[in-house]
Amino acid sequence: MARYTGAVCRQCRREGQKLFLKGERCYTDKCAVTRRAYAPGQHGQGRKKTSEYGLQLRAKQKARRFYGVLEGQFARYFDIAERKPGMTGENLLRILESRLDNVVYRCGFASSRPEARQLVRHGHYTVNGRRVNIPSYLVKAGDVVCVKQKTASSDKMKGVTEANGSRPVPRWLDVNRDKLEARVIELPNREDIDLDVEESLIVELYSK
Ligand code: SF4
Repeated sequence: MARYTGAVCRQCRREGQKLFLKGERCYTDKCAVTRRAYAPGQHGQGRKKTSEYGLQLRAKQKARRFYGVLEGQFARYFDIAERKPGMTGENLLRILESRLDNVVYRCGFASSRPEARQLVRHGHYTVNGRRVNIPSYLVKAGDVVCVKQKTASSDKMKGVTEANGSRPVPRWLDVNRDKLEARVIELPNREDIDLDVEESLIVELYSK
């Protein structure tokens, strides 16, 4: 399965905000966005004026990078979002937020979305009692996501859950930290999603 393998912090600097792709480092002074708050590259500190298309593109790229989704998959999510009733932009963010790797990260069962993705790929979580190793698996209301028993007792997972235990959990997830288990109460609304992006710009971009 394809994935981005370039410099990670560069993506945050490009989008001008933290995308939390590196776990604990993102919360320290070592974060590249804190240390170099300008876009990467030779012209990073240069011209700031952005066209309408530029704004739309940045909104799409930010959402895509936040969730670690490649272009093709993102476009497919947009198609699905468009066919659903309601606001396309909100539907799109809801789909992205329902990905299993994101849910695992939101629950504090992984330090970052990239780490969550890798741990899901390696089969460390179950959904409704069955092992699921597909990061793009979309959870539904009522689903129960668990860390596998063998994984839960490993030093690595203990370290991860300790380090991420204080991270706020969104209201649409009910997390039991002792059992390393989470129930999806309902799918999130726009106000539950802390991604600072104007989703209408993404809709405009794809509607051209
Ligand atoms: Fe982004 Fe984290 Fe790197 Fe900061 S440390 S630039 S938030 S990936």
